[in-house]
Amino acid sequence: MEEYEGKTWRGLLEEGTALLKEAGVGEAQTDAWYLLSAAFGMDRVHYYLEQDRAVRPERLSSGYGAYREFLAKRAARIPLQQILGNQEFMGLTFAVDENVLIPRQDTETLVEAVLRAHTDPQTTVLDLCTGSGCIAVSLAVLGGYGSVTASDISGAALKVALKNAKRLFLIRKGTVRSQSFRLSEQPWKRELRTWIAQDAAGNGVREQSLTLLQSDCFREFEPEAVYDVIVSNPPYIPSAVIGTLEPEVRDHEPRIALDGMEDGLHFYRVLALECSRHLRRGGMVYFEIGCDQAAAVGRILEIAGYSGVETIRDAAGLDRVVSACWMR
Ligand code: GLN
Repeated sequence: MEEYEGKTWRGLLEEGTALLKEAGVGEAQTDAWYLLSAAFGMDRVHYYLEQDRAVRPERLSSGYGAYREFLAKRAARIPLQQILGNQEFMGLTFAVDENVLIPRQDTETLVEAVLRAHTDPQTTVLDLCTGSGCIAVSLAVLGGYGSVTASDISGAALKVALKNAKRLFLIRKGTVRSQSFRLSEQPWKRELRTWIAQDAAGNGVREQSLTLLQSDCFREFEPEAVYDVIVSNPPYIPSAVIGTLEPEVRDHEPRIALDGMEDGLHFYRVLALECSRHLRRGGMVYFEIGCDQAAAVGRILEIAGYSGVETIRDAAGLDRVVSACWMR
């Protein structure tokens, strides 16, 4: 540690930035800042106040090891969110690891569209390919829907979704009582239930449930299960394109969360067909899509018998969500 004697906070940040730049990381300074902040428990205000001061030796020795370790991981192109262990989505902080897709801001478009169109708390919602659970948990927490189900083929992903559901759904403002049940291990199934006060005085308690289920599409579902709204952000990248993506995505995010098979549309074909058997009349689907897939996915839905196909754009103005109605 001796050679770092007299090192300033600014010096530490510059050192990290240089290391990440060298490794080809795009937002080298921003990422170095987040890692510095996490390693030393440093916030922006204190950084600006103290940036040219030498870091106290005790502080340096307690944080520097972690900082170098974080930087080495980031230089190996491990995503920042996997190093820090979380990502913000819909104003909520979701835990992430290498078993789940990192929640993207684009996906907020889907959540917002559902929240806008479905204001009845009785709405029953299903999220297929839930991953970290970001869509399902946001809908349960922000939409207050009485019954939300989230499923994924990956048990490892569902463990992350469960962690997020416990932190964000089970224990939150207004919770009067909460329970978590393990319904089965094979297939993996958990139910979380909360009783939420309708007002600050604790009046009008309302029950909400969030069920997590391991399933390859609808395989483990009751054949007669029906929902008002089915959402999904399925894997939609054509297999051949995955090799061209940034190393963070290509090498560190789960391939099963990305790979949409040959033309990227495989899961829309499966979902269009299968969801129609689990929607009530007048029920809706909302699928996130790649920005060049709106026409193709719209067509898949029409051929499967859906009506009222609509495309919703994201904040960048790109096609991001296709919705449709099941009227049969
Ligand atoms: N539903 C999760 C998300 O939107 C995971 C999606 C996926 O794995 N393709 O982040």
